[in-house]
Amino acid sequence: MSDMRSDIESVILDQETISQIVRRMGAEISRDYDGKDLVLIAVLRGAVVFMGDLMRAIDVPVSIDFMAVSSYGAAAKSSGIVRIVKDLDIDIKDRHVLIVEDILDSGLTLKYLMKNLSSRHPASLEVATFLWKDVEGKQAAINPKYVGTHVPDAFVVGYGLDFAEHYRNLPYVGILKPEVYS
Ligand code: 5GP
Repeated sequence: MSDMRSDIESVILDQETISQIVRRMGAEISRDYDGKDLVLIAVLRGAVVFMGDLMRAIDVPVSIDFMAVSSYGAAAKSSGIVRIVKDLDIDIKDRHVLIVEDILDSGLTLKYLMKNLSSRHPASLEVATFLWKDVEGKQAAINPKYVGTHVPDAFVVGYGLDFAEHYRNLPYVGILKPEVYS
């Protein structure tokens, strides 16, 4: 059996830290959306783990739905040109929509998605991202309303995030050893 853990250079968020962050975000969202018709939309597949935890940290009624997108061109860097592979099943018109994302880097994928979703006339449209890879001098294309925590400009895996579909099931977030992907 190969050992996923030996491919991790360092753990940057352990389970306890993750759970504190998610509880804090859930409390913020519950306060802001109290009495509103809230729909959480996660983008498959990376955001699935965060979605599962976040929805249970929210104590106002929510609906959930999922979208899947695939980007054109090289997979490593986001081009912002995406194709919707799986669309929503529910109608978001006049509902308060919160996009649940695993990690925000350039924000180009989300910018495209937000443009697409806003054309369906939701009552509001915001983003909750677990991680924000914001590097000095680099600006994301969108401004998330809720941010779990900031991460350095390294390739991270675990807690839903993959490298070549592996490591999603690690219960923590870690930096992948460069020799694994180079
Ligand atoms: P953006 O469009 O914001 O540049 O790209 C965001 C997407 O790129 C994320 O949803 C995620 O799929 C992927 N991504 C960006 N940085 C990382 C990273 O450090 N690790 C992993 N596993 N995926 C990343």
